[in-house]
Order: sequence, then C-alpha cells, then structure tokens
Amino acid sequence: MADHCSKHGIVFVADEIQTGFGRTGAMFACEHEGVVPDLICTAKALAGGLPLAAVTGRADLMDAPHVGGLGGTYGGNPVSCAAALGAIETIEALDLPSCATTIGKTLLSRLGALANKYAVVGDVRGRGAMFAVEFSDPRTGRPDPATTVAVAACHKQGLVVLTCGTDSNVLRLLPPLVIEDDLLDEGLSILERAVAGVAAG
Ligand SMILES: *Cc1c(COP(=O)(O)O)cnc(C)c1O
Repeated sequence: MADHCSKHGIVFVADEIQTGFGRTGAMFACEHEGVVPDLICTAKALAGGLPLAAVTGRADLMDAPHVGGLGGTYGGNPVSCAAALGAIETIEALDLPSCATTIGKTLLSRLGALANKYAVVGDVRGRGAMFAVEFSDPRTGRPDPATTVAVAACHKQGLVVLTCGTDSNVLRLLPPLVIEDDLLDEGLSILERAVAGVAAG
C-alpha cells in the first residue's frame, strides 16, 4: 500500500488513533510493517484521557496550508498538551509497548485455546493488547451476532467487552497496558466461562 501510494503520488495517512502509543507492542503500529507514513493521526492515548488530537507529518505537507489554515476550536489546548507530555513520558518510562507485547502473548495463548475448544469461536486475531474474537456458525461459517451479544453479557460478571464489526459478531478486547497479570487472567477466565455457558446452550 505504501509502495502503491509513493509510486502514484498519493499521500499515505496512517490512522494510529487507536493503535498508537504502545497499544500494539510498538510505539506505532506502522513500525511493525516497516512503513513510514506521510501523515500520522493520533488522539485518545496521546493525552491520557484529556481531549487532544494531532496530525503529524512530513514538513512539506504540514507547511502546505496557508498560515492559520490548519486549526480546530480546541487545537493546542495548553492543559491537554501538558497532559500529553506527561502521558508520553510515562509511556516511555514504563515501557508500555513491551507491556502490550507481553499482554498480547497471554491473549493469543488463552484466546487461541478458546478457539480450539469452542467451534462458535470462528477467529481470534490481534497484535499486542488489541484483540478481536469473532463468533460464527461452525456449520455455515456465517456471522453469529446472537452468540456475540450473549457472551458480551459477561459485563454482569465485571468484564467489559466491546461488540463491533459490520455483522456485530466480533468482541474487541483492549485491556489497559498497565493491567496486572492476575487481573488479565481473571478477565480471560470470565470470558471463557461466558463462552462455555453460551456454547452449552
Ligand atoms: C476515536 C477515533 C477517531 C476520532 O478521533 P477524535 O479525536 O475524536 O477526532 C478517528 N479514528 C479512529 C480509529 C478512532 O478510534
């Protein structure tokens, strides 16, 4: 994709709003692919919860708009910017990308075992601390939103998962990068029990 863009003079934009700042096991997900985007969008973890978004890019692109031509109502909010400096310092000091890699290993092994055991788990995929569990009918391979919603009821046991996907048959797992091992294990056990319960009918 990046090659295609540079060959045809297309600006390559990486939306790292969710994947950036360590979530996938690298500071930015594009690093896994060895790609250098022309522009990167960041937000969310950028300021540790305070409202801030940023576009960072090649100087010739960033300098292309006229003076004052790139802005927003709350652009450069000083409190949010201070929070971002603190958040980035903390992400680096705690080496949160490495934490994400470790979390990803646990997720892959526990969720992989879940997929092997329960036929309704059609797919497990992700990178670092960003995983998806997809539910489908084992006979037809069709998306199974009913099972997905039933499993998501595990919020009653204290585990919050996000349902998503065009067919609403995917659960997203985005544990905090500072989660401790026993809490991650507990969350995965709640998820396993929920899947076992739904699979048993
Ligand atoms: C949240 C989100 C956005 C929007 O970010 P804002 O800071 O609200 O503008 C864009 N892309 C992705 C992938 C997001 O998760």
